[in-house]
Amino acid sequence: MKTVIKKIGINGEGIGYLNRTPVFVPGALLDEEIDVKIVTKEKRYAIGSVNYIIKKSKDRIQPKCFVHHACKGCPLMIAKYPAQLQYKRSLLKQSLIKYAQVDPRKVEKVIGSEEIFGYRNQCKLPVSLNKEGQLCSGFYLPNSNIFTEMKKCIVHDRGVERIRHEVIEVLKRFGIQPYNHHTKSGIRSLVVRGFDGKYQCTLVTGHDELSCSLIEDILHIRGMYSLWQSIHTVKNTAEVFGKQMVHLGGEKQLPFHFDGLDLEVSPRSFFQLNTAQAKVLYQTIASLVKGHKKRIVEAYSGIGAISLYLRDKADEIIGIETIKDAVVNANQNAKRNHCEHVRFLCDDAASKLTYLSKNKEIDVLVVDPPRSGLDDAMLECLLRSKIKEIIYVSCNPATLGKNLAVLQEKYRVQRVIPIDMFPNTQHVETVVLLSKLKTKKHVDIELCADELDLTSSECKATYNNIKQYVFDKYGFKVSNLYIAQVKEKCGIKERENYNKPKNDDSKKPNCPIEKEEAIKDAFRHFQMI
Ligand code: SAH
Repeated sequence: MKTVIKKIGINGEGIGYLNRTPVFVPGALLDEEIDVKIVTKEKRYAIGSVNYIIKKSKDRIQPKCFVHHACKGCPLMIAKYPAQLQYKRSLLKQSLIKYAQVDPRKVEKVIGSEEIFGYRNQCKLPVSLNKEGQLCSGFYLPNSNIFTEMKKCIVHDRGVERIRHEVIEVLKRFGIQPYNHHTKSGIRSLVVRGFDGKYQCTLVTGHDELSCSLIEDILHIRGMYSLWQSIHTVKNTAEVFGKQMVHLGGEKQLPFHFDGLDLEVSPRSFFQLNTAQAKVLYQTIASLVKGHKKRIVEAYSGIGAISLYLRDKADEIIGIETIKDAVVNANQNAKRNHCEHVRFLCDDAASKLTYLSKNKEIDVLVVDPPRSGLDDAMLECLLRSKIKEIIYVSCNPATLGKNLAVLQEKYRVQRVIPIDMFPNTQHVETVVLLSKLKTKKHVDIELCADELDLTSSECKATYNNIKQYVFDKYGFKVSNLYIAQVKEKCGIKERENYNKPKNDDSKKPNCPIEKEEAIKDAFRHFQMI
């Protein structure tokens, strides 16, 4: 069947139409005429594959990666870079129009990256056996448990790639086996992060006690600076790290220079994956803060890089972050750079900001939340606050659009600046400047948890979605009460009395640990945590 690709979808696939039904076709580019084979047919859409291309896009190129079709991590690698940037801009426009009716003319040109290969400063890869039965790192084919070796990844930093291979060679020499769920031993995944020729490596394993000679051999790899083990025996989870971290050798933190700042990072702390573009991102944010401010707050602050980048812009800067290791790094980073007026607090962003905004005047708030966007407690806090300007840094156009739809009640979208942090992928980072509307009108809004629990990019996770997910994956049922209890534990706020027993004294059963883990897994799946 023939179709013409009319737009690019959120996963980087081409979208054409057959009898008005959209057909999602991975590997097809805008304006291409293709012969499509239908792979899956649903009521409202179909998924197809390219049989052959009848009319090629002028932007199509040969992908440089050999496992490009299997890995699916870089779906836009088949297009010239300027075309990739155009696709990203139009994806962002579509999303912001769809969810928040933002004027598309406000969406500026995407700031491209100078390097489109070798930019990723970190790899997090599962470890298993290759076809020859040898230990290797690789990837699982999307939505499957089929493992494929990744011999080379051209978007990873070259040094990170070298370390990944050398560590695997040492593990092979010592006869380390892939992780086994029955014995709870073996290696599960390998995490390598590096800057300026120095590397931090974490071996994610079961309850293995690694020999001194194995540790010594890894520490002898050129550039190995910090070595950790993470004990991780939880089944069916997307979390890469386990709760227990063991420092095996070298330094605990990885230090690096970043555009005039001296920073350090721990294995579990987040730092932008594209170091060169992080500089562009932070410069863009800084350019939006005009004049000298009294107080800036950064919510979701990681190791504090944005706050420190803004150090000359305010008398006081406060960062809020939930991961304790990251907060320790951030405060240490403030010290290293002699910024006594910058400090970081370990807390949930919404609850701390609610407190801060009641007690202190905040001129500028920077938010850089995870893909799930701002939760309903945060949105409620912002709508009630007097914060003058918000700089919203988003890595997900869908949740950004949904959040802006709410925020526009009190804020005007001034600028929308997309930045390409991940060339060859479909992802686009966006910096939005919002300024407080000058109105005295106070609108009381009721935020419904199920409407604002922003989940996977396009859909909402209702209680029923969560129940279904748990039942399909784990084969048992979970009650509303249990979901509500786990939501509370995870700090996901919901309306008063929602699924809670009427009487506080009523005897309520506590969610068993097995069910709690399954519900948390569902939250992760729907990107609620
Ligand atoms: N702004 C930082 C990090 C952004 S990534 C940078 O540019 O490097 C998002 C961060 O939000 C992560 O560090 C994550 O741990 C943190 N986070 C996630 N949920 C949070 C919450 N509810 N409250 C505070 N921080 C949170």
